[in-house]
Amino acid sequence: MSFEKLGVMKPLLSAIKELGYKNPTTIQTRAIPLVLAKEDVFATAQTGTGKTAAFGLPMLQRLRNTSADENRTLRGVILSPTRELSIQIYEDLNNYAKNMKLNIAVLVGGKDIESQQRILNKGVDIVIATPGRLIEHVDKGLKLNDVEIFVLDEADRMLDMGFVKEIKKTHPLLPKRHQTLLFSATYSDKVRKLSKLILTKPQFIES
Ligand code: AMP
Repeated sequence: MSFEKLGVMKPLLSAIKELGYKNPTTIQTRAIPLVLAKEDVFATAQTGTGKTAAFGLPMLQRLRNTSADENRTLRGVILSPTRELSIQIYEDLNNYAKNMKLNIAVLVGGKDIESQQRILNKGVDIVIATPGRLIEHVDKGLKLNDVEIFVLDEADRMLDMGFVKEIKKTHPLLPKRHQTLLFSATYSDKVRKLSKLILTKPQFIES
């Protein structure tokens, strides 16, 4: 299989080629077409399987943007359990999107919230956030009503860390029609319960 055959667009192909990605991994081969087809996805995947690109590449492609900065609205939200993982996803997505006009921001605790707000006010397409910090921004006026793609990365870890409240608070703020991608290392009862709440007719991927 090749990234091209999976339907990945040229600006992304050239970016991942520079990163040395030759062939898609198993999870990428299975997830990319489903995400491009706007399906909800429930994927079990460990770190190291290439899961970030499995949701990141098709998400960037779906949200590709040509509008002027002042017209941007937040269309993609990725929740991740820790600052470190959020920053890693942010760096990976920026590398993939280097030939695209997308503004991506990372919202994690321990950093000055006002400087994050200034970045949001300039117009951002995608945010990667820890659940608590996203809610803090929502409480300060961040709107999620134009979000088209909602990703939960390492959902089992987020639940183990007690973020279920924040996830349950975030979900109803999304528009009725949106795509949700849930990635989890394990298929625990807690994750299954959450998936029933937030996924619509999901496609399952086990890797
Ligand atoms: P992840 O599971 O997303 O943390 O990715 C693990 C590592 O594999 C990261 O360093 C990625 O940059 C790298 N990677 C992801 N997809 C591919 C691919 N198709 N070919 C080569 N390396 C990849």
